[in-house]
Amino acid sequence: MSDRRIRRITIVGGGTAGWMSAATFARILGPDYAEITLVESDEIGIVGVGEATIPQMATFNRMLGIDEDEFLRATKGSFKLGIQFVDWGRLGHTYFHPFGHIGLHMEGVSFHAYWLRLKQAGLVDRIEDWSLQATAGARGRFMRAIKAGRSPLSDIAYAFHFDAGLYARYLRSYAEARGVVRREGRIVAVHRHPETGFVQSVQLADGSRVEGELFIDCSGFRGLLIEGAMQAGYVDWSHHLPCDRAVAVPCEGTEAMTPYTRSTARKAGWQWRIPLQHRTGNGHVFCSAYMSDDEAISTLLSNLDGKPLADPRIVPFRTGHRRRLWVGNVVAIGLSSGFLEPLESTSIWLIQSGLSRLMAMFPDRDFNPATIARYNRVLTTEYAEIRDFLILHYKATERDDSPFWDYCRTMPVPDRLAEKMAVFLAHGRTFRENEELFNDTSWFAVMLGQLMQPASYDPVADILSLEETRTRLAHIREAIANSADYMPTHRDFIRQHCGA
Ligand SMILES: Cc1cc2nc3c(=O)[nH]c(=O)nc-3n(C[C@H](O)[C@H](O)[C@H](O)COP(=O)(O)OP(=O)(O)OC[C@H]3O[C@@H](n4cnc5c(N)ncnc54)[C@H](O)[C@@H]3O)c2cc1C
Repeated sequence: MSDRRIRRITIVGGGTAGWMSAATFARILGPDYAEITLVESDEIGIVGVGEATIPQMATFNRMLGIDEDEFLRATKGSFKLGIQFVDWGRLGHTYFHPFGHIGLHMEGVSFHAYWLRLKQAGLVDRIEDWSLQATAGARGRFMRAIKAGRSPLSDIAYAFHFDAGLYARYLRSYAEARGVVRREGRIVAVHRHPETGFVQSVQLADGSRVEGELFIDCSGFRGLLIEGAMQAGYVDWSHHLPCDRAVAVPCEGTEAMTPYTRSTARKAGWQWRIPLQHRTGNGHVFCSAYMSDDEAISTLLSNLDGKPLADPRIVPFRTGHRRRLWVGNVVAIGLSSGFLEPLESTSIWLIQSGLSRLMAMFPDRDFNPATIARYNRVLTTEYAEIRDFLILHYKATERDDSPFWDYCRTMPVPDRLAEKMAVFLAHGRTFRENEELFNDTSWFAVMLGQLMQPASYDPVADILSLEETRTRLAHIREAIANSADYMPTHRDFIRQHCGA
């Protein structure tokens, strides 16, 4: 059989998606397998936001063989134990969506069921007390897990915040050291094969061409290849997630660097706050039908930790995804494949997920259509599952203080989400569907945090007596509080291990 192996991979774009792709191919395939070229344009630049992640990012670092402390030093990064949501369920109300488990499953029954039983009996208050991440977060503390037997300290889930510009630079040196060739230049034309329609080369402004057999489109929102050349189409979800713009500005940080992202709901959207070692990243995601750019900027600037370090920058976006993320010999990774607003920091995960699935379905020069169809189905399903989790934050709210919140509270939601909400409202049950990203704990934390009130608790929780349940939960809470107290402050941990 003849060798159908792909010998030339061309990546278009050098933002987070482009360099994550380059690093992945360099690490897994290596320069002997294929020639890897990345084309980017300094003149166009990168989107430059995207600084909060989820715990799966550590798997990506491990796959690349990156030392975590070195990565955090290079990107001036910090640790993230979850997201604090302020004013989402109602004005004045705060909750925490933590990474990791909440409590412990006991006798084969979910912890959530026991907790809800006590809650409905008026015996407990905040679920956060049973999450080490939430408790440590509230106290500004952080450490990595240690070997400590059954102590909560042996299982600490965390993610990272980092400077997006520094991260692209960091991955660039990683990839270049492993043979990836970078070409600077603005692409002005895309050439396709007249019969197959496959992309053959991209042409730069200086007239030169970069050829390839497999093209990875990481050109950002513009989707230069996937849309510009291959016309993949777009599935628009603006009616479900109506925010369509963001304004971003970095500001001076504070000494007490919180180990979590904060998301504060505003009149027509929400504001993020991401603490890094050298500054705080901020942004205001809003809906242009209910708020002007000027008002969004002024809201953002009046709610910063310190002095702004740059001019506010507007980033327009359209929520949804390409109808097909892989067409012919072009695979879209990153913003070129679609965008879901950054409420749960899932975009970088979608890059990682696209890459790991592409590696699992890596093509040869025949580009098998069934494999491509499968890739598209898996990725678009993942987009839809994350979309539903994001919609939940807007839909399940008591807020009625602005036309934006009136719209969100009363909008119809996809059937799958409507079912999940109905199941929770009956007995407080949450489930992880198939391979969906967010597990039952995340759904539970956010449904509860958004003030959804189940009519009853899971009847199976009655296998323990009320007194026994109360005693066991009190022990768990105590172990978590003691563990949080044992941890150093986030700032001290960073100073000691990965200070920039
Ligand atoms: C407001 C906002 C907040 C976000 N927050 C988060 C977050 O907290 N967490 C998270 O996980 N994600 C977040 N994201 C998403 C995250 O920013 C992106 O997923 C990530 O930065 C990847 O971007 P990219 O590389 O696809 O595109 P870009 O950064 O836009 O890079 C595009 C690249 O293509 C190149 N290019 C484009 N056109 C041409 C051309 N004609 N010729 C040559 N080169 C070209 C550019 O030079 C650039 O190098 C956020 C996004 C937005 C908009």
